[in-house]
Amino acid sequence: MSDTALMQIPGNIDPVPTPRDITPREDGRVDLLGLPRQRIAELFAEAGLDAKAAKLRAKQVYHWLYHRGVTDFEAMTDIAKTMRPWLTQRFVIGRPEVVLSQHSSDGTRKWLLRTADGHEFEMVFIPDADRGTLCVSSQVGCTLNCRFCHTGTMRLVRNLTPGEIVGQVMLARDALGEWPKSANDTRLATMAGLDEDEDEGSYGADGRLLTNIVMMGMGEPLYNFDNVRDALKLVMDGDGLALSKRRITLSTSGVVPMMAKCGEEIGVNLAVSLHAVSKEVRDEIVPINRKYGLEELLQACADYPGASNARRITFEYVMLKDKNDRDEDARELVRLLKHYKLPAKVNLIPFNPWPGAIYECSTPERVRRFSEIVFEAGISAPVRTPRGRDIDAACGQLKTTAQKLSRAELDRLAEEKQAALG
Ligand code: SAH
Ligand code: SF4
Repeated sequence: MSDTALMQIPGNIDPVPTPRDITPREDGRVDLLGLPRQRIAELFAEAGLDAKAAKLRAKQVYHWLYHRGVTDFEAMTDIAKTMRPWLTQRFVIGRPEVVLSQHSSDGTRKWLLRTADGHEFEMVFIPDADRGTLCVSSQVGCTLNCRFCHTGTMRLVRNLTPGEIVGQVMLARDALGEWPKSANDTRLATMAGLDEDEDEGSYGADGRLLTNIVMMGMGEPLYNFDNVRDALKLVMDGDGLALSKRRITLSTSGVVPMMAKCGEEIGVNLAVSLHAVSKEVRDEIVPINRKYGLEELLQACADYPGASNARRITFEYVMLKDKNDRDEDARELVRLLKHYKLPAKVNLIPFNPWPGAIYECSTPERVRRFSEIVFEAGISAPVRTPRGRDIDAACGQLKTTAQKLSRAELDRLAEEKQAALG
């Protein structure tokens, strides 16, 4: 055995580097998923089109790719028939690979996905009466090791690429059958008053299931800022997936130096994983607090571009028995939010236990009391209903479950998945 085999795999690097430009697939073709219009045009020019043709084709392909969800160049009907094989020979439009998918009795759907280089990550869809929220991952694993979070225990970490991030949303639209069918449909929707104005958001009123996106899956999105931004730009673009920035929320554990940039360059709603109101407890359960403390974090929230009473910042608070759930903690939470004059809402999350976790969830009475104290101070503090408990819907759990399944079980699940996706 050589010396290098004994070398330790580096652990908690901070932040995570992304080793990637455009790598052609094994068959030499380039996957366009995740690329902006400009980059697609450059690739077409490099492949031999003159600048004007490259720009025109890129505009057409971009529309089919992101707005219509088409993966086959042959279906791009406004592109000359002779041009389509030229594209097919050189390019593909991919999707993350589905390893397995689960459907909960409460309607929650969860997918275990795999990158081309074999890393697994998760995506969850949570339907409610008035909205459908897709929970999107930004990294494989997470370097931050929050003590109550299962993803934090995973060693393997790599940033997801823009294609792997936007690919999750596109895969969800595939599975839910929610792509605009034709330009005519878009026109009809516009005539019906369902315009595609970016700020109003065209989804939700028109009966679609997928109306909202939360960057709350695996990983810390602000440690993968560029890729998350580039992916969300495609999601928000009116000629892309056309989902309003008001329907997108990015959750951070508190990467203070990136928060203003997030507001300025992405402009989505912000959620902050606060989880504790004292240095001592937050240092323990959200270790990034040792680097960026509570005062700094709350100040960055107060300065968050675009936050207002109409667009509040969500403070996530996981309820851990005898750790952060006393009346005094609730009162201190109120004091802090008022002290920093934050346009805030609090989201109380019952701890979702996983095998090996060292915490327990607070009792329902405790959660209720905590919520009342915050409510009585005039701050909204709903308790998030646990969803998909029958399908390991806690962050990072499906991946671990899948690793324990036998090959035969995985094959069976894959067949079920095929059947379910039709
Ligand atoms: N890394 C980002 C986003 C992903 S985690 C962040 O930490 O904000 C999304 C949310 O799920 C966070 O608020 C996180 O604290 C919470 N969470 C993680 N594990 C949980 C568990 N086992 N039970 C309840 N909430 C959990
Ligand atoms: Fe990472 Fe968020 Fe989990 Fe913390 S809670 S380990 S930041 S995914």
